[in-house]
Amino acid sequence: GVVLVTGITGFIGTHTALAFLEAGYTVRGTARSAAKAEDWIARFSQHKAQYEYAVVEDIAASGAFDEAVKGCTIIAHIASPAHWNQNDNETDLLIPAINGTKNLLYATKNEPRIARVVFTSSLAAIIEPTREPGKIVVETEWNPTTYEEAKAATNPTIVYRASKALAERAFWDYIKDENPTWAGSTICPCATYGPPIQPLRSISALNTSVSFLWDLASGKFKDGVPGGPPVYVDVRDVALAHVRAVERDVAKNQRYLLVAGSNIPDEFADVISRHFPRLRDNLPPIDLSKAGQSHFKFDASKVQRELGIQFTSVERMVVDTVTSILLLQQQF
Ligand code: NDP
Repeated sequence: GVVLVTGITGFIGTHTALAFLEAGYTVRGTARSAAKAEDWIARFSQHKAQYEYAVVEDIAASGAFDEAVKGCTIIAHIASPAHWNQNDNETDLLIPAINGTKNLLYATKNEPRIARVVFTSSLAAIIEPTREPGKIVVETEWNPTTYEEAKAATNPTIVYRASKALAERAFWDYIKDENPTWAGSTICPCATYGPPIQPLRSISALNTSVSFLWDLASGKFKDGVPGGPPVYVDVRDVALAHVRAVERDVAKNQRYLLVAGSNIPDEFADVISRHFPRLRDNLPPIDLSKAGQSHFKFDASKVQRELGIQFTSVERMVVDTVTSILLLQQQF
């Protein structure tokens, strides 16, 4: 069957498309332009025979996916604004996330052969911003932020997080209200790192999560790290979870939390320091005394049990990410 991967030119989109290609599927990627879609396959030319693309300039435009879905049996909906440098909460984040998802779901009515749809949600859709520290995070929780609250919010990350929760709610609401012939699943990764192999024109174009790790490795946080996500997962595990979610019956109507471990930025810095001596001078002072004492408690056993995901270690994730960016740097 043909798998439609929306947002194929992005970080997670690229890895997920490759995971589907490597599993033997034909992939139809959506990109904002033909040039971007061609640029993508030029990097992975070994898969050229199993690659197609559809141009979707703006996922928020009504009918955006009506043509793209035709002939597909599986969809992975990954495209969504994945940053928090919006000028306008609605047009830059909320509307593309939510309407992009609705447009895709309504388009499935044009293709009765669609059997499975997997939606890339986020840990952001699960955790309540006001949750008690130490409470164990599981798939049954929901970020309760409403559209109106998100629209009015002045903290940009609250808006991004709400965009993911509201888009995922739209996904489950569609299934409840429209009773489609396909089965849905959602993947909720936390901060995702790994090799940025998507087409990039500069290091400054790295996606939000990977740029945090690179900022740390390249000296931006030498005088102090501004917080940073308390948890991590490797993009290759996230990609494989998408494939397994559309292949396994157990995944029908299920939501999966993907968190490999909790960390403090010092633990990333420690891995960088040990593996890349020439980057040592870039790093902030490392204090591992608080490592392993995170208040962020989670239970990500469901994805391991049901989808057979074995999480990549922090060591390998950080080493592979930094190695890959150092190689990119030589190209630019
Ligand atoms: P990227 O920015 O690399 O990917 C986002 C993709 O969505 C790009 O291909 C982008 O296209 C596309 N896109 C965004 N808005 C539009 C739009 N209005 N019209 C058309 N295409 C659009 O980020 P990630 O790979 O990190 O994120 C991918 C998905 O994973 C998102 O849904 C994100 O919320 C989710 N996620 C990411 C996590 C992370 O830590 N990275 C963690 C949890 C979830 P273009 O580049 O051309 O703008």
